[in-house]
Amino acid sequence: MDLETLAADIEAYYRDTAATFAAAQARSGLACPPGCGRCCLHPDIRVAPLEMLPMALELWRRGVAERVLTELESAGDICHAFQAGEREGQGSCGQYAHRPFICRAFGVAAVIGKNGPAASVCATLKGQVDAPIVEASELPVLSDWYAGLGTLHPELSDSQININNALRLCLNRILTIKHFQD
Ligand code: SF4
Repeated sequence: MDLETLAADIEAYYRDTAATFAAAQARSGLACPPGCGRCCLHPDIRVAPLEMLPMALELWRRGVAERVLTELESAGDICHAFQAGEREGQGSCGQYAHRPFICRAFGVAAVIGKNGPAASVCATLKGQVDAPIVEASELPVLSDWYAGLGTLHPELSDSQININNALRLCLNRILTIKHFQD
């Protein structure tokens, strides 16, 4: 399967999941504070490389793939796509339309722990989870949705790595393939 087709399939999967996550969010009442970017500032967001393919392909289409690869060399571990706001902890996603799966599911999906399902939330949302409106067992289970995503390309889904490393991996793969296609 070529990269464009794979990226289109990934984005279609994201669209398919959107209604489920939106419904779960509406049921739970969980909502991020306006402008909050704290989850994006986590120093080790981990994703399957597959999740970053749509973003990487978009960067390549815009002709900035090489530039971003250079920037990633000194980017540290905070997500390269994060655009800091004026206040500490605030900011936005510079690649919102092409953000990975975890950024769509975090806060509205459940993870299965030894005590059963628990909402995947940050410290800011934790206070909302403690309110009785949330039943984690009613939230979509993150691993189930990851399993569905993984069927699109098992090799690019079999590990979870730092978000910037995943973007780097996808950019390098795209540039290598495009180089030999030209
Ligand atoms: S891709 Fe966007 S939403 Fe996800 S961590 Fe990076 S800045 Fe935040």
